[in-house]
Amino acid sequence: MHVINPADYRHIVFFTGAGMSAESGIPTYRGKGGTWSAYNWEEYACQEAFDRDPEKVLSFHEMRRRAVLACEPHAGHYTIARVQRGHPHVTVVTQNIDGMHQRAGCTQALELHGSLWRLRCSLHGAVEDLGETYRSVTCSECGQWLRPDIIWFGDMLDPEVTRMSIAAIAECDLFVSIGTSGVVWPAAGYPEIARNNGAYCIEINPEASPLSHLYDEHLRHPAGTALPSLFDTGQ
Ligand SMILES: [Zn+2]
Repeated sequence: MHVINPADYRHIVFFTGAGMSAESGIPTYRGKGGTWSAYNWEEYACQEAFDRDPEKVLSFHEMRRRAVLACEPHAGHYTIARVQRGHPHVTVVTQNIDGMHQRAGCTQALELHGSLWRLRCSLHGAVEDLGETYRSVTCSECGQWLRPDIIWFGDMLDPEVTRMSIAAIAECDLFVSIGTSGVVWPAAGYPEIARNNGAYCIEINPEASPLSHLYDEHLRHPAGTALPSLFDTGQ
């Protein structure tokens, strides 16, 4: 494995998926036999469920927040944060909703699937809410229920977040994908977008994915060991 000096690149994009969070011990929702497998998504993770019983859905998401708060960012999260803080042009694009990048010190992350740490009103937009329990579950302006600002089953991705992600990937010269099999659209198209711009593409994932052939380099290691040894952040 060679060592990358971030200063050799103009614009670096880190694209992270479930594997990045799993290494911190964060339970995944969709995984087989996971912590949440006893919960039926139709009752907890879609707009219809929320409309039916907002309190039940909100308390389920509070439980997910507590599970995340019990975990810590790993060395890979901290490496990304150091690279971002030491370089003028680093974009983090993530499929994770747990806010681990920010907790590790990232100054920016495009969250394709939203965040467990925001609630939103359909009329008045999103509010940040970082505690173990929600500060308020109704909108201060109109009084209606606030729903978790995450992409549920059946929801559309936020077009603005998607647009900004694609714009960054289309002009980066180093693209590092971490812990994602990348088979779900639109994320499945991201490595090809980076490649078309001539970006150097690195895949960090213990297992090969159907898109592995699009990468110039593959690191078959966990992110927590691969990222700190790949990047020379002067520490
Ligand atoms: Zn409102």
